[in-house]
Amino acid sequence: MDQALLDLFNAQAQDAGPMGVLRPSPFELSDLLKTWSGPRPLRVCSGGTSSLAAAQNQWTLDLRPQLNRIVWQSTDHAVWVGGGCRMRDVLQALLPYGQSIPTGLSGMPGLGYVLTGGMGPRSRALGLAIDHLLDIRGVWGNGEEFWLQRHRDGDSAEWRGLCGAAPFLAVVSEVRLLTHPRIPLWVEQCRLPSDALPDWMQEAEASDPSICLQWHWGDADRLDILRVYAQDPGSSKIGRIDGLDQLPALVVPRPGAGRVHSEVVGLLGPAGAAGWKERMPLLRDCMDRRPHSSCSLSGQQLGGATSLVPSDHTSFHHRDAVWKPWITAGWVAGDLAMRQRSLQWLEELWSVLQPLCPGVHLAQLHDHLPFHQRELEQAFGGWLPGLKALKQKVDPAGNLPPL
Ligand SMILES: Cc1cc2nc3c(=O)[nH]c(=O)nc-3n(C[C@H](O)[C@H](O)[C@H](O)COP(=O)(O)OP(=O)(O)OC[C@H]3O[C@@H](n4cnc5c(N)ncnc54)[C@H](O)[C@@H]3O)c2cc1C
Repeated sequence: MDQALLDLFNAQAQDAGPMGVLRPSPFELSDLLKTWSGPRPLRVCSGGTSSLAAAQNQWTLDLRPQLNRIVWQSTDHAVWVGGGCRMRDVLQALLPYGQSIPTGLSGMPGLGYVLTGGMGPRSRALGLAIDHLLDIRGVWGNGEEFWLQRHRDGDSAEWRGLCGAAPFLAVVSEVRLLTHPRIPLWVEQCRLPSDALPDWMQEAEASDPSICLQWHWGDADRLDILRVYAQDPGSSKIGRIDGLDQLPALVVPRPGAGRVHSEVVGLLGPAGAAGWKERMPLLRDCMDRRPHSSCSLSGQQLGGATSLVPSDHTSFHHRDAVWKPWITAGWVAGDLAMRQRSLQWLEELWSVLQPLCPGVHLAQLHDHLPFHQRELEQAFGGWLPGLKALKQKVDPAGNLPPL
């Protein structure tokens, strides 16, 4: 046990000053949760990329040192991934076998990426990361151990809960994921005036599922585009990479930006480029009034294979979603007045997007912020009461974050 979490990717979590850090082995997890009498909830850290990987006056379970096993299984092209593994390490471990998993825009996220849904440039063709889960092992919030298998337990409430809402229910020690052959991809990157966004979205909505559009609106009037193709589009301006492990960043962090803290809210909405076009003046007005240069709006395309799984099979309720925009509210670390302004700005932008994106992708927990309940309702919809009943059964003392 020690206090240090200085290597966390998320600056806010790194600066949080937790009460303490525990680095359990898989064998210690059950007793730890069964006998926990310290402050609740415990925070869980896998990739350490979200703001609540650590919190003031709370304890963090840092899974990275002891739950880092990655084992390839040639028999059924699957891979065991420990609860504290980063996605880039999984991609690296699969390289010798010519296999891959559908990771997101960065290799930095840990197992939290998979457990909260997991979407990326290959999702339209291959589905969400949770759709690749074959086995899930771990410990419920009450300390009881479990090992669920999709072929046996795929219809159970427990399986459904873990696929998309695991952070509220359990500490997952290990999962087994289906892999795919690592294939070359073609990557188009450009900068455009922000007014071009609805036209690009419209084109993307009509495109083949082997193509995926990502965009980042950071500067008031500029858009960064990252369009990924799984088949050669035949243009000399579009570069080829050998696999997802070589994906360039959507946005390169600016040097000298200072220490920034931030919160991210992910939204989900159906196809609707025309609606985005109508809302552009309101969106542009919000973007012109960003309280800090790190405040931004980005988007990732879904649909295709992500919509093929029935919405009551997992906790990823919004299977009709074609766009996942996410709002980043940033501020200078320690500047509480700017934090307040940035979070207000986030909520204002969210209300502009609400008619287009009624859903939430709950990839980052915000039980320290006033809109936590709204996020839960918009993320899980009619499944929320079922999830709450499951939480009551498997984590009655609230060892893990509240639902
Ligand atoms: C640079 C960057 C790029 C990203 N790109 C994408 C993207 O393309 N697509 C996408 O879908 N998301 C993306 N995300 C969001 C990211 O996937 C989520 O924020 C995810 O929750 C991060 O997981 P983590 O393990 O890194 O973070 P952590 O902060 O360690 O954990 C995040 C949450 O997951 C829970 N958790 C983590 N591990 C476990 C476990 N083993 N058992 C139980 N609960 C656990 C934690 O309790 C915590 O609430 C991105 C994030 C960043 C920082």
